Amino acid sequence: MNLILLGPPGAGKGTQAKRLEDAYGLIQLSTGDMLRAAVASGSEIGQKAKEIMERGELVSDEIMIAMIRDRIQQPDCVHGFILDGFPRTTVQAEVLDAMLANMDVKIDHVIEMTVDDAALVERITGRYSCAKCGAGYHDKYQQPETDGVCDKCGSTEFSRRKDDKAETVTSRLQAYHAQTAPLLPYYKAKGVLKAVDGMADIDEVTSQIELVLEAA
Ligand code: ADP
Ligand code: ADP
Ligand code: ZN
Repeated sequence: MNLILLGPPGAGKGTQAKRLEDAYGLIQLSTGDMLRAAVASGSEIGQKAKEIMERGELVSDEIMIAMIRDRIQQPDCVHGFILDGFPRTTVQAEVLDAMLANMDVKIDHVIEMTVDDAALVERITGRYSCAKCGAGYHDKYQQPETDGVCDKCGSTEFSRRKDDKAETVTSRLQAYHAQTAPLLPYYKAKGVLKAVDGMADIDEVTSQIELVLEAA
């Protein structure tokens, strides 16, 4: 089974993708995580992407397509993948379709996670993650069981993304509405789009996604 999680920044794509990885044995392909790794390594792509990401704009289709093309052909993807943060433009979606057709692979569901813009600002500005294992948390909505200790790995070090500031959120939301939202009618026309209520609490969103996957 291959999925796309589609929704604005902060909608909960990463949170749900990690749960689906565990529950269904799928692999999460997060282009945001790949880019942050490239920035941290100082690679050529990382150097190009760094400032664009800090401004809350989209990295070029050319870079993103090359990145996902390399990743999606790796052997661990054959058991199913969850695209999280890709495609984000019509060009990316069209090239992805052609790429998958060549590999004889199809997307089973595109899951749209709907969340109000006002709620997204709070989600993004309260987001942080474990510096060691990457587990995701929120100041208010997803706190570790023991204050300051990661549930998954016990680490006491956490980090916040540089682009998770109120100033940057506006441009990221603009980029979503202008460049990514047109993918909704694109996938609707293909008959693969299913919407879930991303405003619900985290467990409820997971249940709604499971219903979609199990109805198939
Ligand atoms: P995305 O990958 O779509 O940008 P995340 O999964 O990182 O979004 O979620 C953004 C923040 O909101 C995180 O801090 C996460 O803990 C929190 N979050 C995710 N889903 C929900 C939800 N349904 N309700 C409240 N907070 C949520
Ligand atoms: P979020 O889900 O919170 O928006 P991501 O981690 O998916 O964040 O992406 C962080 C940043 O990385 C984006 O704001 C953008 O600059 C860049 N990025 C990630 N995926 C893509 C993509 N498919 N196309 C263009 N830029 C991307
Ligand atoms: Zn951890």
